[in-house]
Amino acid sequence: HAKRKGRNTWQWYHGAGVKSTLDSVFLRNELQQALEKDEFTLHYQPVVDAVSGKIRSVEALVRWNHPERGMISPGDFIPLAEKTGQIVPLGQWVLRQACREIARLNASSERMLPVAVNISSLQFLRENFLTAVDDALEASGLPARFLELEVTESVLLDGAEPVIALMDTLSSRGIRVAIDDFGTGFSSLSYLRDLPTHKVKLDRSFINKTLTDRRTAAIVQGVITMAHHMDMVVVAEGIETEDEQNDLVRRNCDLLQGYRFSKPVPLEVLAELPDRLPGIGS
Ligand code: C2E
Ligand code: MG
Ligand code: MG
Ligand code: MG
Repeated sequence: HAKRKGRNTWQWYHGAGVKSTLDSVFLRNELQQALEKDEFTLHYQPVVDAVSGKIRSVEALVRWNHPERGMISPGDFIPLAEKTGQIVPLGQWVLRQACREIARLNASSERMLPVAVNISSLQFLRENFLTAVDDALEASGLPARFLELEVTESVLLDGAEPVIALMDTLSSRGIRVAIDDFGTGFSSLSYLRDLPTHKVKLDRSFINKTLTDRRTAAIVQGVITMAHHMDMVVVAEGIETEDEQNDLVRRNCDLLQGYRFSKPVPLEVLAELPDRLPGIGS
């Protein structure tokens, strides 16, 4: 029937596009059902104090536990979910689940951990996002100050004003907003100045180059110094080695996150982690 739809359609079903087209059609339908079938799960990665190694917060990271394909990482379905809009219900599930699980964890232990949830721009900029956040907090009993939202610079693509207004409202409720993957996207220093945010997360792509590239090191040091002058804290993501850890500590980075301290782990494993994670081997 491809012929009936004309030449463009015929081309569409041939060549290199075939596999990815079919894949995304399948994936799209499967994504739809995955939520109903409860196939998503959250792992949590600690963020530690750069000096003491004390766990300060955790970041929720979604995984798709696919019945046939096994554990699928978010890089393989979040971009599609963003394209189809399915990120909105999925993101809402993540928000509710993260609040619920961390509220339960905090209630069962001495340690009170804030949780950071990644929010896609599409989800963040939806009219009812604030209601969705309120719902998640209310349903879980998690106090607002234990919730942090991670957004990337791409929320600013359609203009800063509505974003600033929303962030102001969120912070008046005690909910904090962090800028994720800072420096990789639509960066403008004047936006950083205007955003009511308290934290920037330096992308992993900078961290593993600081030791070998002077210019990358200059950016990293510059961001840290600038953020501190704006009363923001800086997290370095993707710390894997002792050298990277030492370098970021020396540069006055406040918080560290990476495989060196802990990979993202299931809630049961998180519950058993010690209060301090000084880094493998130290
Ligand atoms: P992100 O928010 O920047 O999260 C950090 C990613 O880096 C995570 O990958 C984490 O596992 C990985 N990582 C942490 N430390 C290290 C390290 O030392 N070395 C290396 N090589 N990697 C490290 P993950 O879990 O695969 O997530 C990838 C991205 O998918 C996230 O990047 C985030 O943008 C997105 N994502 C994950 N969960 C969600 C979600 O619930 N909602 C939305 N909208 N996006 C999500
Ligand atoms: Mg993140
Ligand atoms: Mg990040
Ligand atoms: Mg990143």
